[in-house]
Amino acid sequence: MVFKNWPRIFLLIASFFFCVGYRIQPGTIGWGIDTSSTAKRKVFLSVTQAGKTITNNLPSTDALGSAGSTLTESQLMQSIIDDFNGITRSSLILALDSDSDYAANKTNKRITIEVGSAAGQSSGEARLTFSGRTITDCKISLTDKAFTSAKDYVALVTHEIGHCLGLEHSQDSVWAVMSYFYNDQVYRLAIDDKMGIVHLYANTASDAAEKATFGAACSTQ
Ligand SMILES: [Zn+2]
Repeated sequence: MVFKNWPRIFLLIASFFFCVGYRIQPGTIGWGIDTSSTAKRKVFLSVTQAGKTITNNLPSTDALGSAGSTLTESQLMQSIIDDFNGITRSSLILALDSDSDYAANKTNKRITIEVGSAAGQSSGEARLTFSGRTITDCKISLTDKAFTSAKDYVALVTHEIGHCLGLEHSQDSVWAVMSYFYNDQVYRLAIDDKMGIVHLYANTASDAAEKATFGAACSTQ
C-alpha cells in the first residue's frame, strides 16, 4: 500500500523544488486594497518625468517593438501597467495618477517614481513604507542610467514596481524579472513574478492556491 503512493510522494517533493521561486517581502500582506469596487482595487503611480524620451531597443515581438525609434517614459509606463493589469487572477489594478479615481482613492495607495539616487551600482531602488504588515507608500528612485534604453527601463521599472507591490528577489533567474541576477532575455513580467502577485492579491482563495503539477503546469497567473 505504501509502495503505491511513492510516485505521488515523489511528484509532490519534486514539484516543491520546481515551484520554489518568488519570494515575498518578509511579513507583508501587500497593499490594503478593497475588492468591493474597481476604484478601491487601484494602486496609483505618479511619474515625474513622463515626457522624457528613451531610445527604443525593444525587440519586434514586444508590444512597443514597432512603436518608433524613441519612446516616452509615459508610453513605457503604460505598457508596464498593462502587464501587471493583465494578470487575470490578481485583483490589484495599477493606474496612473491621471486616473479619474485617483483623487478619492489615493490615500495609502500611491507609488511615486522619481529621478534620484540609488544604493551602490544600482540603476534604481524601491523604498517601502508599512503600517503593520500593510504597504502604505512606495518611492522608486531611478538614476540617469535607468533611461539608457527602453528595454533596460522596462526591466528595471517592472522589477522595482514588483518590490513596491511586496515581492522580494526571486530564486528563479530564468522566469522572473524579480530575480537578483540580470538576464537580458527577461525584461517583462514572467510566470514566476505573476505567481507572486497572485499569491499576494488573488481574486479568490482558489486562485491563490498554487497548482503544482511537476513543473508541467506550475502556473497560477
Ligand atoms: Zn531588486
